[in-house]
Parts: sequence; structure tokens; C-alpha cells
Amino acid sequence: MVTNGQQSLVFAGHPADTRGRADSEKNARPERKPMGFLTGLMHHAGWHVSQNKEPKMRKIKSVFFAILLFSAMDLYAEGNPVSAAPEIAFTIPLHAKYKITAEFGEIRHPLSGKTYFHSGIDFAAKLESDVYAAARGTVIATGFDKSDGNFVVISHPQGYQTVYSSLKTITCKVGDKVSSDSRIGLLGSTGMSTGPHLHFSVYKNGEVLDPQTVF
Ligand SMILES: [Zn+2]
Repeated sequence: MVTNGQQSLVFAGHPADTRGRADSEKNARPERKPMGFLTGLMHHAGWHVSQNKEPKMRKIKSVFFAILLFSAMDLYAEGNPVSAAPEIAFTIPLHAKYKITAEFGEIRHPLSGKTYFHSGIDFAAKLESDVYAAARGTVIATGFDKSDGNFVVISHPQGYQTVYSSLKTITCKVGDKVSSDSRIGLLGSTGMSTGPHLHFSVYKNGEVLDPQTVF
């Protein structure tokens, strides 16, 4: 970070020793231009130990501009000044033609006729269509369940999890790192199912979400 030998002596071991300060300041000036923004900030922070008022002022200005810059970056990133990291992007887990046959929420069960809470979306598509991870993440569970059929669970950054059910075949294993172009299974009709479809659920920090809100 500190490229000049003379400066590193001043900063590293002798904060109270101001010998050569004028020199180092003079020498530092032409060097400030090629420095990165953060390196520049640290550079100013280093100067703070000296009793010279001008560098202190520069430090305050730098911090002010840093806050301004990061606030602007936040706004640009997602139109929300509160949270810094942009939300992870999800894509539809099928590349083949599909039809949504059951939405998220209260629906009437096609087999029992009773109203119940549907925890995801059903995508009807051709049997054995490739099923892809909806976003980057890690496979944390695979298995078979009487009602869900063959299923895969993927954990994503920012507390998200996605579940893919009724698969004919599972083509991934626990621990696999996946991205949105990783095939994780083949679409099927296993479990409580009336035809070939993919049941897809999204959770965030354990709470089920309408998948339509994350695409
Ligand atoms: Zn379903």
C-alpha cells in the first residue's frame, strides 16, 4: 500500500516523530494521483498522526467523499440506500417450454378437491425436460418423499433456499456447487402428481416466498 520507503518509516514506527514530514509530504504529492481511492484514504489516515492541520483536513474531506460515493453506489445498485449488497438474481429453472398449472398460495388441490396452501409454483412441461438451478448455490439435500417425489434442495447466498420436486431423475448430489446453467435433474411426475411438472419453492431465512417475486 505504501510505496515510498521514507513514508513507510514515518507511518510504521514513529507516529510522534515528525522529522522529515515536510519532505515526505512534498514527495507524496505527485504520488497521490496513481493511487487507488482506498489506498489514498489510508494514506490520509496515516498523515493524521502528524500535527499538520492541512492533511487532517484532507482526511475529513476524503471520508466525506467516500460516504458520498458509497451512498451514490448504493442508490445506483438497487435504488435502495439502506442495504448495500444487491439481491441475488433468480431465473426460471426450465429452459424448455412450460405452462404454470398451479400458482403459489391458497389453491384447490386437483386430487382431493380441498383448498390448501400451495408452497410454490407448478411448471408443467415435457417429461424429462432438463431442470436447472434457479441461481448459484450449493446442493444441500436430495431425496424421495411420498408427497414431493424426488426432490433437490439448493442453498443460495443471502439466506435463500430453493426446492425442486416431482423430479423423474436427480442428476446432482449433496455438496455440488451449482449456477443457473447447472442441470440438477429431469422433470417428472413423482410423488402426489397428476402429470409431468416441476414443483418449485423458494424460501428466505426459513420463510416461504411466492417464487414469482424473486424472478
Ligand atoms: Zn406444486
